[in-house]
Amino acid sequence: MAASEKDSRPFRAIIVGGGIAGLFMAHALEAAGIDYVLLERALEPVEERGAGFGLWPQNFRVVDQLGMLEDIEKLGSEFKWTYNFNPDGSPVANASNNFEKLTQRAGYGFTIFRRSEFLRGVYDKLPNKSKFVTGMALERIEQDDKGVKVFLKDGSMEAGDIVIGTDGVHSQVREFMWKHANGVRPGAIPAQEKMSFTSEYRCLYGVSKMVPGLQKSSLIDCNDKHCNWLLFSCEDRIFWLFFEKLGKSFNCQNCHRYSESDAVAVGEKYLSHPINGTVMWRDIWENRIQYHLGPIEEGVLNQWHFGRIVLAGDSAHKMTPNLGYGGNQGIESVVVLANGLNRLIKRCETVGRRPSTEELSAVFDEYKEIRYPRAKKHHDLTGYITRFDAYDGFMYPTLQWLMPRITGKEYMINLFVELVRPGRKLDFLDERVRRRGTMKWEDELTMDEKKQLQGRTMSKSVLFGIAGAAGTVVMASCLYHGISPLPGFHV
Ligand SMILES: Cc1cc2nc3c(=O)[nH]c(=O)nc-3n(C[C@H](O)[C@H](O)[C@H](O)COP(=O)(O)OP(=O)(O)OC[C@H]3O[C@@H](n4cnc5c(N)ncnc54)[C@H](O)[C@@H]3O)c2cc1C
Repeated sequence: MAASEKDSRPFRAIIVGGGIAGLFMAHALEAAGIDYVLLERALEPVEERGAGFGLWPQNFRVVDQLGMLEDIEKLGSEFKWTYNFNPDGSPVANASNNFEKLTQRAGYGFTIFRRSEFLRGVYDKLPNKSKFVTGMALERIEQDDKGVKVFLKDGSMEAGDIVIGTDGVHSQVREFMWKHANGVRPGAIPAQEKMSFTSEYRCLYGVSKMVPGLQKSSLIDCNDKHCNWLLFSCEDRIFWLFFEKLGKSFNCQNCHRYSESDAVAVGEKYLSHPINGTVMWRDIWENRIQYHLGPIEEGVLNQWHFGRIVLAGDSAHKMTPNLGYGGNQGIESVVVLANGLNRLIKRCETVGRRPSTEELSAVFDEYKEIRYPRAKKHHDLTGYITRFDAYDGFMYPTLQWLMPRITGKEYMINLFVELVRPGRKLDFLDERVRRRGTMKWEDELTMDEKKQLQGRTMSKSVLFGIAGAAGTVVMASCLYHGISPLPGFHV
C-alpha cells in the first residue's frame, strides 16, 4: 500500500509461536494498544516442557513495566551465591555472593523459575486470552505490499500487516521468509545463511528434589574435561543442566533427536562424579522429577527480516544456555521491535493510515542494527563459557584457577552488571519502572559516563588477555611435564 493511502482497518500483527519471545511480544503490543493475534502450534498455551528458566534484572525491569512484577517474582527463587568446583569436587575459589550484589546494584535480582510456571505466570497476565490461539499449524505465508496472509492447516486464514516469527530455533516462519526472499530476489538468502545454526554439545537437563549438602539459592558449577554441570538450587528443588561435548559439529538441520533411553544412558554414565565435596551426581540423578536430553544449538542469522516478515528470539539468535541468556535475549529483541513498531504505527495513525512495506522495513532494519551486536556478543560469550566450563581448550582449566586470583572479587559482579546494564526497556512505558538499585541503566547514562565505562571495559579486556596468556603458558608447561593442572583433572 502506498504510504499516503488511507485505510480504516487498524494495524494488525500476526505473532507465530507463543514461547518466551512470543508471549512478551503479545504483552508489549497489548501495552502499546496495537492489535495482534498469536498463533501457537501446541494444543495448550503452556506445555510441561523444559526445566528451569533464569530471568535477569534487565527483563525484570520490563516485567515491572508490564505490571506483573509481584505476580511473577513470587513464582521463582532469587539467587544469592555462586560456587565453582573442580572435577574432584574441591572448590576452585571461595563462594561469592555475586547475585546478591547484582540485586543491590540493579534493583531486581536474578531469579530461577520452573520454566512452565514462568510461562504460565506470563500467560495468565495477558489481558485478552482470545488473541492467543492454540493448535494452529502453519500451511503457508503470503505477503505483498498490502499485507500478509497466514494460511493454517485447519483451512483458516489470518490476515494482517506483519508476521513476527517467534517460533523458535526450528522456525517455519524463517523457512517461508527465506523462500519468499529468494523468490523475489534470487540469491537474497545465501546457502551459508541456512547453515547458521550448529551444535557441538548436548545437554541433559531436568529438575530434582533438593539434596542435603547442596547450598541453597546458589548457582553451582562443576567442571570436567568435555563436560560440565550447572545446578540452580532453590528451597525444595534443583534445576540442573549437564553438558557433554559431541565428537563433531552438526548442522542443526540434521541435529540428533534423543530418546528417553539416550537420556538415561547419559545420566547414568557419570554417577560417581563429585559435584561438590559431599554430593555426587548420583544423588541428584536419583532424585530426579523430570529430565530431557537435547542438542545445544548455536548461531546468529544475518538476515532477520524480509518484506513484512520479521524474526525474534531463537528463530534469529540461538545461544548455549550456560549464561541463562537465550530467552532473555529474546525478550530484549521483542522490546526493541515493539518500541520501533509503536513509534511508526502511532506516527501513521495521526494521519489515518497504516505503515507501508518500506516504512516497516526501515523499522526492522533499525531493530536488527540495535539488536544484532548484543545478541552476537552474548552468543559468543556464552559459547565461550560453554567451552571454558567443559575445558574444551587446553588453557581453560588453568585459566579457571587463575581468573579469580588475578581479577579480584569484584570481577564477576562487574561482569554481571555490564551484561545487564544495556538491556532495553519499553520506551513508551517509561514511567512504569518502580525499582531502583545503585547502578544506572545504559539508557540513563550521560555521554561522559558512557565513555568512562568504555574505558573500564577496555582495561578489563586487557586483564583478561593477560590471564589468558598466563593460563596458556602454565597449562602448556603442565601438559609438557605430564602434571595435572587442576585437582581431579586427567591429563
Ligand atoms: C536446558 C536449557 C536451559 C535454558 N535456560 C535458560 C535460562 O535460564 N534463561 C534464558 O534466558 N534462556 C534459557 N534457555 C534458552 C531459552 O530456553 C530459549 O532461548 C528460549 O526458549 C527461546 O524462546 P523463543 O520464544 O524464541 O522460542 P521457544 O521457547 O522455542 O518457543 C517457540 C514457540 O513456538 C511454537 N512453535 C514452533 N513452531 C511453530 C509453528 N510452526 N507455528 C506455531 N507455533 C510454533 C512452539 O510450540 C513454542 O511455543 C535455556 C535453553 C535450554 C535448552
